[in-house]
Amino acid sequence: MRKTISAVILGLLVGITAYAQQSKKPNIIIILTDDHAVSTIGAYCSKYGATSHIDRLAKEGALFNKAFVVNSICGPSRAVLLTGKYSHVNGMRDNRDTFDASQDVFPARLKASGFQTAWIGKWHLVSYPQGFTYWNILPGQGQYYNPDLINMQGDTIRKQGYVTDVITELTLDFLDNRDSSKPFFVVVGEKAPHRTWMPDIQDLGRFDQVNFPLPKNFYDRYTDRIAAGMQDMSIEKTMKLGYDLKMKSEPDALAASFLARMDPDQRLKWNAYYDKIDEDFRKQKLKGRELTEWKFQRYMRDYYSTTLSLDRNIGKILSYLDQNNLSKNTIVVYTSDQGFYMGEHGWFDKRFMYEESMRTPLIIRYPGVIKPGVISNQIVSNVDFAPSFLEAAGLPIPAAIQGKSMMPLLRNFKTSIRKSAYYHFYEYPGEHSVLKHFGIRTSRFKLIRFYEHKDFWELYDLEKDPNEMKNLYGLKNYRSITEDLKAQLQQLCEENKDETALKVLAQNLE
Ligand code: CA
Repeated sequence: MRKTISAVILGLLVGITAYAQQSKKPNIIIILTDDHAVSTIGAYCSKYGATSHIDRLAKEGALFNKAFVVNSICGPSRAVLLTGKYSHVNGMRDNRDTFDASQDVFPARLKASGFQTAWIGKWHLVSYPQGFTYWNILPGQGQYYNPDLINMQGDTIRKQGYVTDVITELTLDFLDNRDSSKPFFVVVGEKAPHRTWMPDIQDLGRFDQVNFPLPKNFYDRYTDRIAAGMQDMSIEKTMKLGYDLKMKSEPDALAASFLARMDPDQRLKWNAYYDKIDEDFRKQKLKGRELTEWKFQRYMRDYYSTTLSLDRNIGKILSYLDQNNLSKNTIVVYTSDQGFYMGEHGWFDKRFMYEESMRTPLIIRYPGVIKPGVISNQIVSNVDFAPSFLEAAGLPIPAAIQGKSMMPLLRNFKTSIRKSAYYHFYEYPGEHSVLKHFGIRTSRFKLIRFYEHKDFWELYDLEKDPNEMKNLYGLKNYRSITEDLKAQLQQLCEENKDETALKVLAQNLE
């Protein structure tokens, strides 16, 4: 009898200890937006007041000025986040690949350790998620209005409403219905503000009074930069009046199919707004630079308006955490799958290793670990996310993970976890015609190697030339720094086992 009582007490103690350890584990929410440029976020530098809730997160946590992606394109970026491995290792090199979701993804490890895990919204990896307690995803790119969602049974169900609201609703439903004795991990996969930047009805016209200044290098002529001159992502030539800018006088079948999803009320309000702009546009008969600059203004206004719902919905998630007493024990991460060009070099879209698209917003609120209001200039990469969250959850980091945990940095912002960031983009030939390239970004310099279809190097001194307008490669004064960067790049390629890049480097192109 005595023995039995001791066993019961021991059992209880073990149970209580396990519970205490479990309850100490932080919850984790990653809000992953799509194509959100740092230049449009108040906490970074935007002056237009579109992001008060994201800005709140930055005030309460840490903002990273040098957060980079390893491959600036939608699907591959999500694969890097899930695996902590570079594209050539996780197999998702470009948007045409299919992600093998059965591979070792860190949310599955969180789940196995007792987390309730979920991925909600944009997934964009072709295969279905594996290793999650719950998922509900947009097919492919998804739709802004009355979006379809694929549930865990594989059924596609249309949801009434605006996509960003729908994703938040599903997220809060998951949180409401979770097993609250367990910690949770959620990725809120936003569609916004991806092309074609379709704002919520209530936000139409909210930036029409703003005259956005043209970036200084809007009329870039791409001197010394072959790939920049070859791209097909300019506002002037590539951006379409019908598809991108919603002008019905330039009919576009895809744009029409987006509108066809709207209910009569949504469509009435949408048309009331855009038809007026279209009528005015046709009267003006713009040409040349006037036309290009009109397109730029429309692009900026639609894009910014689309981010309003995004920010409002982030506010809803933060309020939910506050109201349910979860804020103190929840890590909230705000990031995007990459950056975006807002007219810099005359462009929209991403893909290049240049700053606007290689950089991504990253804000982390982690009460008890990160002091409010930190601004970090340390280099971090999206390949570092997986090991960081595993460590935050008290789990070991598998040896096969290639990223470095950011936890030492989050505990002490003087700590540097990496000297440089590695990059490799593969999707050529492909949409927007950006050549294949890889390279290294240190705190001051960037060395890029374009290869295969055209072989050449580019070098930038980001201190002297933050807009990357002057390719310094081959200049006498930069020879020794170039040699040093090449050696560092060679070492990175070896460490990361990037055989494609190593073969290119072996060509010893001067
Ligand atoms: Ca994207």
